[in-house]
This record gives sequence, structure tokens and C-alpha cells, in this order.
Amino acid sequence: MAGIDGIMADEVNTLGVEQTALVEEVLEQTEKKQTRKPIDPFYLGRVPVYNDERKFSISPSSWNNFVACPRRFWLSRRRLPRKAGMAASIGTIVHGALEDILLLDLEGKQDNEKGWVPVVMERLLNSQWEDEKKRFFAHQRQPKWKEDSRDKAMQLLNGSMDIVLKRSGVGLMPLEDVTVGFWKWVQSLMGAVEGELKTSDGKIMGRLDVMMYDIDTSGEVVGWIVADLKTGRPPTDGVYDTVSRQLRLYRDLLSENNPGHPPIISEAWYSDGSKVFTARGDSVLEEAFAAWEAMYPTPEPPPATPSDDACGFCEWKAWCPAYLPFRQNEPNLGSFSDLALHVERYEEETGAAVFSVCAATDDEGGITSTDRFIGGTLEDQSKEVFEEIRAAGWDEPIFCSSILTQNGTLRIGHWSDVLPYAPIVGVVEGRMEGAPELKKKGAGRDTPTAAPVSNPDEEPDPAGAYYEGLIHDGYSEEIALKHTKMYFKDFET
Ligand code: SF4
Repeated sequence: MAGIDGIMADEVNTLGVEQTALVEEVLEQTEKKQTRKPIDPFYLGRVPVYNDERKFSISPSSWNNFVACPRRFWLSRRRLPRKAGMAASIGTIVHGALEDILLLDLEGKQDNEKGWVPVVMERLLNSQWEDEKKRFFAHQRQPKWKEDSRDKAMQLLNGSMDIVLKRSGVGLMPLEDVTVGFWKWVQSLMGAVEGELKTSDGKIMGRLDVMMYDIDTSGEVVGWIVADLKTGRPPTDGVYDTVSRQLRLYRDLLSENNPGHPPIISEAWYSDGSKVFTARGDSVLEEAFAAWEAMYPTPEPPPATPSDDACGFCEWKAWCPAYLPFRQNEPNLGSFSDLALHVERYEEETGAAVFSVCAATDDEGGITSTDRFIGGTLEDQSKEVFEEIRAAGWDEPIFCSSILTQNGTLRIGHWSDVLPYAPIVGVVEGRMEGAPELKKKGAGRDTPTAAPVSNPDEEPDPAGAYYEGLIHDGYSEEIALKHTKMYFKDFET
């Protein structure tokens, strides 16, 4: 009998829906395990190389990063483990598929051929999907890959195509009615697809998605449209400041590099709902050069400016000493929370754990375990990463983001991020001093030992404290006992 890896595509086709889903899941797990590089919990990244030539460029996204929080930008340049995200991957897939269809070689095809667009779109999207999946699985930090988001990606690609048709001046038309001849004409309106823009000194750069010619009813070029495709939710109240800055920068770079150009308008194309927003306003080039000066990275960490907006999208919280103190004062995350936790007990078989919640003692990364004990589970990728960093020798607190609190317990699942809590202060790089040697891949890591994790002498009665905590939180004795027994099997009141 063929192994799971040996199942041929036509064999898969004969399986039922449930079996096919199972096969896909197993294949995905195999693929993920083969490509994901383990996290070294003792690695603090690298200080970028500095020299007098100051060879360094900024892009609109690094500029936005810097404006939101200088420390966030600084951390983003240290080559720390990056986080994959499904929304970002869908964006990449849709961008890639649109670019492919705009650059499609139609040489030799019959001009009157119809019905080919949806077929080609599907093929291009699938090819981008598979490529992106590989890149996603190579990330050290990855949530769950959502195979069922393919429909969403196709919907966004359809929305993007509708915008291209709209901006070509034909309005909406069914994609199956687009002829080869017509699409060649649309392609002829594209001045550039996925192009790099740079100032002559190389300090400021950007990548535009599309530059197309704006034509009047007689077919004369009356301007240029520089467009950035967005696959996120469209704004309800005009262009976001960050997007406006990005779009105006593209416009200004294009204008700077092309003396004598016609009028240029800069647009955000939101494929979700096929909405177009125009960015208006003065040149941002002067501001961009000032930002370049301020952003030249230093070996020392610059100040952190925590806020809900900045920290909400920051993927470097586990390395930021300012985040926990900020979050302790502003715990406004709804049902979700970001916490540093010390794992007191852990059951490898089920992922059940008892944590003590850690508190920041200063904004220099100081932290202490508290007597607030809480039970919970580590699931999916979170469980895998926790066991991985523990097997590598990490027994310090872990940082977990997007923890779901349900019935007084913590669920740390595939949507969460689990990392060593290792705030970076001062000029440090490489591996932490005294860190255990990294085991070579395939050499076999130590199997994590069963609970308890920490020395029980350090905490005389975590089960009792956990039970009391539940009672204190208003749970009945019966529920508190049931929950406590889930994590401390021998517990008796
Ligand atoms: S967590 Fe907040 S304060 Fe820290 S680097 Fe990120 S954005 Fe800045």
C-alpha cells in the first residue's frame, strides 16, 4: 500500500471530502515540519553593519514603522524570527496573480477568444498559492495555514480585476466576456507592473504595483495613475494617513524621476469591494529625506513609543522591554491578552499547563513571577514551539500573544505566538551569554520531561493557589475543584 506521501492526485480525487481533507492536513503537517526552521530561544538577532557611507534606504513601510514606534523599526532590522500571517500571504498571492495576468503573454492567441480569463485566473492564483504556501511554512513563527481562504483570495482577485477594468474606462463587465484582443488593449495601458522607484541617491525607495496611462475618450493619454493594490479592509472614512503617505511618496518619486510627465494621480485600489481611493496633498519628499536622517539605525535601541495602534501590529513584542509595562497599565485587549508566563507544570500529552503570570518590574525588561496561577492549554503550533524552545534549554518565562481566556483558563492556540520572553536592552547581538549549545538538526533534542517544569520547592502549593484564585474570581467550589483537577490530578480541597 502506498504511503501518504505516495498518494497520486487521481487517487486523491477518488476519496471522499472528509478523507481528502484529512490527506491534505497530513500532507500539510509533513510539509510544515520539513521546512520550518526551529526557533533558537537564546538568539537576540544582529546589529546591522554601520559604515560611513551610510548605505541605507527607506521604504514607505519602514517609514510608517518608524513613525509608529522607532523601537519597532529598530527591532525589525535585527533579523529576529519573522512571523508569517495568513492575511499577508493572501495579499502576496493576489498581488502575484494580478501581476501575472497583467503581464500574460497572449502572443499567438485569437483576438476574439472569450471565456479564458476565469480559467487563467484560477490557474495563476493556484500557482501563486502553492509558492506562497512554501514561503509561509519556511517561517519560524507561523499560525495555521488556512486552505479554505483560497475562495477569499479568488474573491479579492476578482475585485482587483474589476478595478483594472473600471480604471481602463470600460466599467464593469463579466470576466468571461473579456476577449484576448480586449485584454491586450488593457495591457497596453500598463506603463509598469510591479516597478521599483528610487531617488537618485538611493535613500528613498518604493515598489509600485501598477502605473497605468489615464486616457480620455479619444484614447489620448491625459495622465498617469500610480496604484497600490490593497487586500485589507477598505477604510470607511477616507484614506488612512499611512496609506496616503505611501501613495504620495510613489507619486513624488515618479514625478522626480520623469521630468515633463503628465499629471499624476495616486490611488489605493482596495480589491475587497473594488473601491478606489485617491491620495491628495503636498509632496512628501522633503519629509521622507528628514525621516531617512532620523532613521539611520544606531547600535543602541532608540526610544519605544507604545500605544494600542503601534503595539497592536508589532511582531517584536517579545523582544521589547516597554511592552509588558505598557500592557499592565492598558490591558485593553477584549477576550484576548498578551502575557509573559512562567510554566509551572506541563503535561506533554495534552498540552495542559499551569502558569504563573509574570509582571514587569521596570521598563528595562525586568520581570517577576507572581502568585497568580492560572491553568490553560497549549495547542497546535503553540504547543510545538513551546516544546521546541524548552527542549533547547529555555526555562525562563515565555511570551504568549493573543491568548484566549475561556472559563477562567487560558487557551494558547494556533492563532497565538509563543516565544521566549527575551527583551533586548543595550548593544547585544548573537546568542545570549552562557546559552546552551544549539543542537544540530536531526541530532535529536531532549524530550521534554513531564510536569512539573519548575522546582516544586520554589512554589509550595500552586494547585492550592490556583484553586483559591478561581474561588476568588467567583467560581463555585464545584467548578473550581473540577478545573483544578484538570491540571493537578491529585488535588483535594
Ligand atoms: S511592542 Fe510597542 S513599544 Fe515595543 S517596539 Fe513594538 S510598537 Fe514599539
